[in-house]
Amino acid sequence: MLHGSGGRASSELIGSIFAKEFDNDVLNAMEDAAVVDGCKRIAMTTDSFVVTPLEFKGGDLGRLSVCGTVNDLLMRGAEPKYMTCGFILEVGADVELLKRLVHSMAACAAEAGVILVAGDTKVIEGTGGIYVNTTGVGFVDEGIDIAAANSKPDDLILVSGTMGDHHAAILSERMSIKNDIESDNAPLVEMVSKLKKIRTKDGECAVHTLRDVTRGGLGTVLSELAASSGCDFLIEEDKIPVSSAVRDFAGLLGLDPLYMGNEGKLVATVTRAEAPEALAAVRSSRYGENAAIIGEVQKPGNGGLVLRTGLGGLRRLGPLEGEGLPRIC
Ligand code: MG
Repeated sequence: MLHGSGGRASSELIGSIFAKEFDNDVLNAMEDAAVVDGCKRIAMTTDSFVVTPLEFKGGDLGRLSVCGTVNDLLMRGAEPKYMTCGFILEVGADVELLKRLVHSMAACAAEAGVILVAGDTKVIEGTGGIYVNTTGVGFVDEGIDIAAANSKPDDLILVSGTMGDHHAAILSERMSIKNDIESDNAPLVEMVSKLKKIRTKDGECAVHTLRDVTRGGLGTVLSELAASSGCDFLIEEDKIPVSSAVRDFAGLLGLDPLYMGNEGKLVATVTRAEAPEALAAVRSSRYGENAAIIGEVQKPGNGGLVLRTGLGGLRRLGPLEGEGLPRIC
């Protein structure tokens, strides 16, 4: 509890763990608020991370808390710039584990090109849990308008890789099932920066909508995009990438990879003519090698999201009902 007192012990905690990893001029000034350069249009987002376990195959709470916030900024076409983080530490939290999480967070922020400009720690009673909230600010260039409502009939639907990896990795850890499935938690900076540059022959942005496929999985995300745009979304079961390990794992537990979340995959709607260029851009980017075009946006008629199954039947899909077990972020 002393570490949360605001006195010498708090300073030691901050100095020995946080300040060392998040070394930059803004933070080092240790002022009450960060003063940074701005721009005309900014994107802002915030998210809290309560996943257990704190470390898992392919990632950890620190990396996840950067990816979640950075990716949400990217999905509006913003360039991520600044982040803040607030740690809530329960009494008994393992300091060596905390150091690893903070180190991982700093490494991921550096990869994503964001700097951490403000932070906070609180120590509360409890049993050693660690929680973090991150807030991010990104700059949105003139002429960029990427939004859920913008998808149009005849757009093609692109996903950046295999579905369900993060969910399957967390569930495997929680159920002590041994396998090789790793979380896909990743900042999607490179692929989004390439996607934003693709123009139609009229000079418009070819990408209409971007969403990261997180909680609720592809089925939930595409249901939301169909509702926001007022269009139908038709996807082809055979074209949706799922790794064989995740497919087997999901089959064993009776789960549907379409409703299993990721933390490093996006779905995009792109003008049909530019879709091949968009696919190539994502495939040539870090974390995008398994990207695929999985369907198309259509005029309204079937009432939202429709899956064409491997056997050729059509099945209407809705958002995830009930709780998507377990907490994955
Ligand atoms: Mg999101």
